[in-house]
Amino acid sequence: MKIVVVGGVAGGMSAAARARRLAEDAEIVVLERGEYVSFANCGLPYHVGEEIADRASLLLQTPASLHAALNLDVRTGHEVVSIDPAAKQVIARTPHGGTTVVDYDALVLSPGATPIRPPIEGLDLPQVTTLRTVPDADTLRALVTDSARRAVVLGAGFIGLEAAEALRMRGLEVDLVDLAPHVLPPLDSELAELLDAELTSRGVTTYIGLAATSITRTLGADHLVEVTLSDGTVLPADMVVLSVGVRPDTHLAAAAGLELGAGGAIVVDNAQRTSDPSIWAVGDATAVRHGVTGVVAPVPLAGPANRQGRRAADSIFGRLTEATLARPVLGTAVVRVFGLTAAVTGASQHMLRQAGIVHHVVHTHPGHHAGYFPGSEQIHMTVAFAPDGRLLGAQAVGRAGVDKRIDVLATALAAGMTMDDVAELELAYAPPYGSAKDPVNMAGMVAQNVLDGSLTLWYPHQLEEVAATSLIVDVRSHGEFRRGHLAGAMNVPHTEVRAHLEQIREAAAGRPVRVHCASGFRSYLAHRILVQEGFDSANLSGGMLTLRAARPDVELVTG
Ligand code: FAD
Repeated sequence: MKIVVVGGVAGGMSAAARARRLAEDAEIVVLERGEYVSFANCGLPYHVGEEIADRASLLLQTPASLHAALNLDVRTGHEVVSIDPAAKQVIARTPHGGTTVVDYDALVLSPGATPIRPPIEGLDLPQVTTLRTVPDADTLRALVTDSARRAVVLGAGFIGLEAAEALRMRGLEVDLVDLAPHVLPPLDSELAELLDAELTSRGVTTYIGLAATSITRTLGADHLVEVTLSDGTVLPADMVVLSVGVRPDTHLAAAAGLELGAGGAIVVDNAQRTSDPSIWAVGDATAVRHGVTGVVAPVPLAGPANRQGRRAADSIFGRLTEATLARPVLGTAVVRVFGLTAAVTGASQHMLRQAGIVHHVVHTHPGHHAGYFPGSEQIHMTVAFAPDGRLLGAQAVGRAGVDKRIDVLATALAAGMTMDDVAELELAYAPPYGSAKDPVNMAGMVAQNVLDGSLTLWYPHQLEEVAATSLIVDVRSHGEFRRGHLAGAMNVPHTEVRAHLEQIREAAAGRPVRVHCASGFRSYLAHRILVQEGFDSANLSGGMLTLRAARPDVELVTG
């Protein structure tokens, strides 16, 4: 059996290594057009930021080490330029300008993705770089000279945020630009607002809802280029990072006649096999089915690429079982933005709306561990679930404990759990680590309350309608109320609600009562009293914390 792998990083090298572990006698050739294989592309931003100071630590393997450990024939500087599926051959350009023909019995394609290059004048200037490869990181580090003072990052997705953080950590003034309505588009907007505030507090200026239209060289100024935005803003810069997204690199597959699907990605079955029975494909170049929305699209993440590589090798050797066939992907991802962590799994509210999936959402703000243990940090969570209780997606932002909660919820999602299951999960607890009711359990319990009717929610986007039709009762303390409250709100601290039922009834004058507090907890207590006293009551999901993040346009009244 001769296996040829195109692309020697995440998916490709996983396939090659697994193939060797399964078959000592297979001939395995890995063709990689770049200078490096098996490098830590996810670590590149941290090398730019100098947290990973030693460049060599990004280079996890070399052709020699892979030959020694796995007997792989790894050829760097070999760019595959065409595939002949009928002859089962690939043609590759060699490092010295020649070509070579390599036969295969099984071909694995893992060519990854290419950065999207929007039609912006000036992208070819030497001060503009992407951040995908080790040479890209070298270029960016070289641009961070002693005299460099300003950077512009185009695109505030995962890599753009990491690049912005890295360059700020190197002491540069950083401007971050994105056409989307908020930073980190996969995140729900009320959570993204928290990242934006963190970026601003750390000295990164965000330009949201704007595109770059041109990059021009400047002469005789104290900066090297100028980036012009769609509203006419001109940002001076010494370097520009282009990170507006990627698209599957599938020109080889297309030329070979393989079936392509959504976004030009290679169509594969649940054994990673393409439309040609001798060709498998994995990683960023392929399309996957989303586990919640069912949408088939590329999900360019390292975890799926690695697992797909392993699966392709298993498939080649006929070792796949029903249990190891590809499962839908949940898009679980995490990013650090200075002191904050943001993480997502499953479908965001935006994705659910787009897919027309009926859902409920709860917002919670629990401490990452017991509040009485020093150092408790708030986690801001949104959890979406179906009317039948099935978990659909979860997102969280906070300074500690975010990754753990999203990983638990990702596992729950993969297991098809309901919010009842989530409420009942038995999770490790001691005060330095969590709470007896972990934030994950709490989200489950709040969802149970929604589903069993003991909690009715209202949401920040309904504020105007609520203000026009209902009595808003703010159940925070008098001090909190004075520091800033919603126009027209009545203040009755939650401990005084029972004693003020008649005043509330009088003020409501037959209208519904809409309660809120800071996070939604005290107002839940008030809501339960009011409902049992016959009021038409609903509680603001996530309280003022969520409202302030979701509706920064709302002006509060003080005094
Ligand atoms: P890649 O790992 O990109 O490998 C593709 C390889 O194929 C490349 O080396 C390319 O040179 C080679 N190639 C392409 N065409 C040819 C050809 N014709 N001939 C020969 N070789 C070819 N994901 C996460 O989950 N978490 C993270 O924190 C994270 N951080 C990231 C940070 C950065 C800066 C980048 C760039 C990506 C990050 N990712 C992260 C995404 C993750 O790295 C990718 O999803 C993953 O590497 C995809 O694996 P792949 O094998 O499909 O492609």
